[in-house]
Amino acid sequence: MAGSVGELSGWTAPNELVIHRAVLHRRPEATAVVHAHPPAVVAASLLDEPLVPIYGAYDIPGARMAADGIPMWDRSALITTDDLAAGMTDALADRPVVILRGHGLVSVAGGDPVTAVRTAVLQAVAVDTLARMTLAVRQAGGTPRPISDDDLAALPDLGGGFNVETMWRHLLTRLPRRV
Ligand SMILES: [Zn+2]
Repeated sequence: MAGSVGELSGWTAPNELVIHRAVLHRRPEATAVVHAHPPAVVAASLLDEPLVPIYGAYDIPGARMAADGIPMWDRSALITTDDLAAGMTDALADRPVVILRGHGLVSVAGGDPVTAVRTAVLQAVAVDTLARMTLAVRQAGGTPRPISDDDLAALPDLGGGFNVETMWRHLLTRLPRRV
């Protein structure tokens, strides 16, 4: 439609579009790729220690992700080439999220596209929450350490659908209301 062309004029592809292309190529099951620069994740990436599951029931999806390991790509370059993107996807491997040291994160999800976008966003939010909490512990003079294996094992599996739908509605209620 002519209107659509007009609405898109002035928009250009993002500098780091290659991130999305490389992940979708490397992970055929992926249908959504989120790339973001959350300041807490950037700060936590500079601690030279991996994020660990410092809590359990507070955020079960985040705790499980941390327990399984959140990989880090040790480069902070703007990802504008296939070579840089390949390094990032190597670090991501088959995990849902990779942290880009001094840069941000990439979150990946598959399945139907609407749920995948929500899942990828929520995974990013979970890592941001974990990073914020880790920094808060550090700033209070504490040392973040993982919860016990027993506590991890005792966390219930609430099911992906329950978590995504519930958390997505929660995020939407926090958005500023349109006038
Ligand atoms: Zn970026």
